[in-house]
Amino acid sequence: MKKRFFSLLVLLSILSACALPSATPTQNPLPPTPNFPPVQSTSATTVSGPADTIFLHGAILTMQEGNPTAQAIAVRGGAILAVGNDSEISALQDSRTQVIDLNGLTLMPGFVDAHSHTLNQRLLDDQDPLPDQQMTIQFGITTEAEFFVDESILNKLKALAEAGELRMRVNVYLLYTNNCGDLMGDWWKAYQPNQQIAPNLFLRGLKIFSDGGSCKAPAMSVEYPGGGKGDLFFSQDQMNQIVAEAQAAGFQVAIHALGDRAVEEAQNAIAFALNGQPNTYRHRIEHNATIRPDLLPRYGEIGIVPIIFGTYSTCIRATGEGKKFKYILGEEYGAWDWPWRALADANPGLPIAWQSDYPIFPTNNPLYHLWGMVTRKEINADGSICNPPDWVKAGALRVEEVLPMMTRNSAYALFFDKEVGTLEAGKFADLVILSDNPLQVESDSIKDMSVLMTMIGGKVEYCATGFESLCPSASPSDVGAGSPVATASASLSDSPASNAIDGNIETIWNSGAGPEQWIQIDLGKPATIRAIRLHVSQYPEGETTHQLWVGADANNLTLIHKFSGFTRDFDILGFTPSTPLTNIRYIRIVTTKSSSWVAWREIEIK
Ligand SMILES: [Zn+2]
Repeated sequence: MKKRFFSLLVLLSILSACALPSATPTQNPLPPTPNFPPVQSTSATTVSGPADTIFLHGAILTMQEGNPTAQAIAVRGGAILAVGNDSEISALQDSRTQVIDLNGLTLMPGFVDAHSHTLNQRLLDDQDPLPDQQMTIQFGITTEAEFFVDESILNKLKALAEAGELRMRVNVYLLYTNNCGDLMGDWWKAYQPNQQIAPNLFLRGLKIFSDGGSCKAPAMSVEYPGGGKGDLFFSQDQMNQIVAEAQAAGFQVAIHALGDRAVEEAQNAIAFALNGQPNTYRHRIEHNATIRPDLLPRYGEIGIVPIIFGTYSTCIRATGEGKKFKYILGEEYGAWDWPWRALADANPGLPIAWQSDYPIFPTNNPLYHLWGMVTRKEINADGSICNPPDWVKAGALRVEEVLPMMTRNSAYALFFDKEVGTLEAGKFADLVILSDNPLQVESDSIKDMSVLMTMIGGKVEYCATGFESLCPSASPSDVGAGSPVATASASLSDSPASNAIDGNIETIWNSGAGPEQWIQIDLGKPATIRAIRLHVSQYPEGETTHQLWVGADANNLTLIHKFSGFTRDFDILGFTPSTPLTNIRYIRIVTTKSSSWVAWREIEIK
């Protein structure tokens, strides 16, 4: 890992040592297509009823176009119920709603990392990836993508997902080539694009390396000082056929291109495959580290989604470290180097998306990346700050431009924009609370900000020490975003089965009869279950026996636990499996022994 990180940095740095541009850009093979599909913002699900949690008095950055800020937000059952002002959201409160006072703090969608190696690098090194997942969640990333996934890594990720260990939404891109450009065969054809393959694990597109970087050198149109123009792995014809083949199978392509010659080839190949049609496949180019000026407008013309680095490697270019490698920096070349300002200006409205590329780059902290993109400063290994020369500073973006790249646009690049990336009713409740408002603090202070709470699917996955008052405790309906329905063997007319899942222990389900009786909950869709808690309603107290049955099919349930013992009213019977139960849609509790009519105050499923 260390070695890869080093070599990519060195190679990126070599780029800056290139002689002044001398090559003549080649002509585009196809006329440009002046459109690309707009970023979608439709609701994934309809949610109604009182809120589990409401956050009031906040600075809410929704990331919605045209509706950027709000005061308050309501969450129910893993999804966003509504976004609005304090009085609108307060109206969604009932007795069981947890109310969080943001007291002016900033709340925004969880960050979406469009390209990383957060889990795959650890798995490649046969190490435990879960500490990295924990750190990533603490940084406020709620959805990410894994970009070096062969069949073995895919199986390892699947095993983690099936064990309920994936807490972020993880998207995988399957390797069509490795990083040296070697073909990986047809293995990807066994899968469908945009397929959920396990809890929190989604298969998206194909990763294709078009030039060097971590293996060999990026392909430039100008000579390196030592000679050569780097390594392009395929001819234009070959790349055209690769993209056309992937597209014919319905796959999005994500083409690694560092040098400008590789960027041009990737653009041409995507234009060839699309043949004038809008880029509904959302074909992407990764890194785009060197963009020759004539290539800038082609992203928008063809509709290509560019995926760009956050922090700029200022230190290696602007300090003694750079001199050590005897790199000569020049303004002429600088205009080609990570030219995000020029890229955004040349392509108004294009969904440019952010990547951390962690751990190839040393951190995936989105706030550090945001700071890097708006200041183009970097923290050196010794802790000192490297200030950018003017030609580097010229590539800086504004905070209000970068935040959508790190949320809405990354979600678009991952085909996740209907579910995450903005705060709007029906989307997953993936959100973070920040220590400060990035739109208001001095840009230099952005790197010192931190995440105080990370919520994924309505569940708090990280709560900073000392900020517990910002973190709602788990709510009864946070299993998935389905709408649970309860049915029972019998019910008194004023104590229906639905009372057992209404979040209120005062209202009970009462069968009105002694054992044997059952109540069953249909979660509406398969979910991962970490714990079940039963709130007892019983009179008189005494010995009881309850069986717990679960499964994906109501007609084929498995007995997983038996509660036997002395119980009384308001007791709580808890069951936590040693590993979370996956693919569970139905939970049935059968009471076989009781001195009371069979009844429950509440059944909590987490
Ligand atoms: Zn990468």
